[in-house]
Amino acid sequence: MSAMTARLVDTHCHLDPGYFPGGPGEVLARAEAAGVGGFVVIGVGRDLEPARAAVALATKEPARIGAAVGVHPHDATTLTDALLDELTALAKDPRVVAVGEIGLDYHYDHSPRDVQRDTFARLIALARQLHKPIVVHTREAKDDTLALLASEGARDVGGIIHCFSEDLAFAKGAVELGFDLSFSGIVTFKSARSVHEVAGWAPIDRVLVETDSPYLAPVPLRGKPCEPAYIVHTAKRVAELRGMSLEALAEATTGNAERRFRRVFHA
Ligand SMILES: [Zn+2]
Ligand SMILES: [Zn+2]
Repeated sequence: MSAMTARLVDTHCHLDPGYFPGGPGEVLARAEAAGVGGFVVIGVGRDLEPARAAVALATKEPARIGAAVGVHPHDATTLTDALLDELTALAKDPRVVAVGEIGLDYHYDHSPRDVQRDTFARLIALARQLHKPIVVHTREAKDDTLALLASEGARDVGGIIHCFSEDLAFAKGAVELGFDLSFSGIVTFKSARSVHEVAGWAPIDRVLVETDSPYLAPVPLRGKPCEPAYIVHTAKRVAELRGMSLEALAEATTGNAERRFRRVFHA
């Protein structure tokens, strides 16, 4: 990728020690060599340790890393008042560029759906209070996701639908509510026809790319633990679906990420 001058931003990766016990150093170095100049590191888990780790990493590497902290829908039942207070204090850190990932996951249903909806609403309120965008995780919960984004006023802060895996109708609803669409390795899968359609349709100023590392490695690396360097394969596929060069896609998506997260990423 050394010929590419525009650099990519991985808008969604998990790098906490639970996934990369050796630390993020080599992973970041490989990403850098592949042309990745910025990272939004997501810190979510059963407790706030991953959130603290994400903020610590962004503090250590402020030029190229921003953090997002939240409560994943899988862990929605963990949101007590005390945890929300602690999360609020963490989310105020200027290195935290977004509240997330938050949302609804009716595929796994690891937390009861009513609790997921309640936690999602409370964290949208937190983002509004802090004037930070949100990173939304949604799976098999299209209608409730759009309904909550609308009823809770998420438009005021905007954000991104991460790891886009839904259909065109949902994409249109999300874009209308002020949300960007972030494409992961799923867009490289042959079977993901509706995602291909959305990647071709989406207004260019609303398109982002991500790895969701360590999950969902793109073709041709599918099945391996995913890491941010692999984003190049995802970006290539999105560019191809849009009839653009990789260079032009990198320039556009990096500009979008910098606008959305209101910061510049330097390599
Ligand atoms: Zn997710
Ligand atoms: Zn994630």
